[in-house]
Amino acid sequence: MTTTAQAATQTPIIAIRNLQKSFGTNQVLTDINLDVDKGEVVCVIGPSGSGKSTMLRCINTLETPTGGSIVVDGMDMTDLDLDIDAARTRIGMVFQSFNLFGHLTVRENLTIAQTKVLRRSKAEANKVAEANLAKVGLSEKMEAKPGSLSGGQQQRVAIARALSMDPDVMLFDEPTSALDPETVGDVLQVMRNLAEAGMTMVVVTHEMEFARQVADRVVFMDGGVVVESGPAKDVIGNPQEQRTKDFLSRVL
Ligand code: ADP
Ligand code: MG
Repeated sequence: MTTTAQAATQTPIIAIRNLQKSFGTNQVLTDINLDVDKGEVVCVIGPSGSGKSTMLRCINTLETPTGGSIVVDGMDMTDLDLDIDAARTRIGMVFQSFNLFGHLTVRENLTIAQTKVLRRSKAEANKVAEANLAKVGLSEKMEAKPGSLSGGQQQRVAIARALSMDPDVMLFDEPTSALDPETVGDVLQVMRNLAEAGMTMVVVTHEMEFARQVADRVVFMDGGVVVESGPAKDVIGNPQEQRTKDFLSRVL
């Protein structure tokens, strides 16, 4: 198949249509439309309060949309009959605050959902955990408690934990914003490797250099809508909309 024919027939792995979300009278997402293809890396940028986290949280049903639809790999995430737990295992999420279980070892953090949710055997779960901890460069920390690790190391463990569920897509919500500057680089490198390995990723980030180098597409959100979207060289390098220009002049 030619590239053009492939593009024409490919169904997006994430399809967001007319997504709306209100909290009471506060309409946070007005009308979001976004397609993400398999293997694509989309970086979402925009000012604080523009609805970036809310959009990510709608994708994996941590929030219930008040309008529109979200289909992830054929699953209608707004279908009330959806098996939410099963659907969520297909979508890995990494938060700003790593959300590791502090009383458990890294090994236990990486295996608990595999055995409890995916019903993998202990042996299998351990094998998967070891492979993913190696991917993030922390094999020697398998028996450590999260509290003994740096923020960047904890975030890499959180990424390994998400990967251990074999997700189809990975969502990242400002994964490096809470980190000491010296540990940010290692986390971004892990994400870069994931992108190169073909993982489908939606990354909310303020790391413009990362977006420039890794994103296939950059989406600028403001006030609950996608204001501008396209290749990084256009959206970051040559923005067309005034709101995008204003935002970039503040962060670059
Ligand atoms: P961003 O991630 O771009 O900073 P958010 O999606 O976190 O933006 O927030 C967008 C708006 O939605 C903010 O005004 C915030 O106060 C509001 N909001 C987010 N989550 C909730 C919630 N659970 N309840 C009420 N308001 C919320
Ligand atoms: Mg946010």
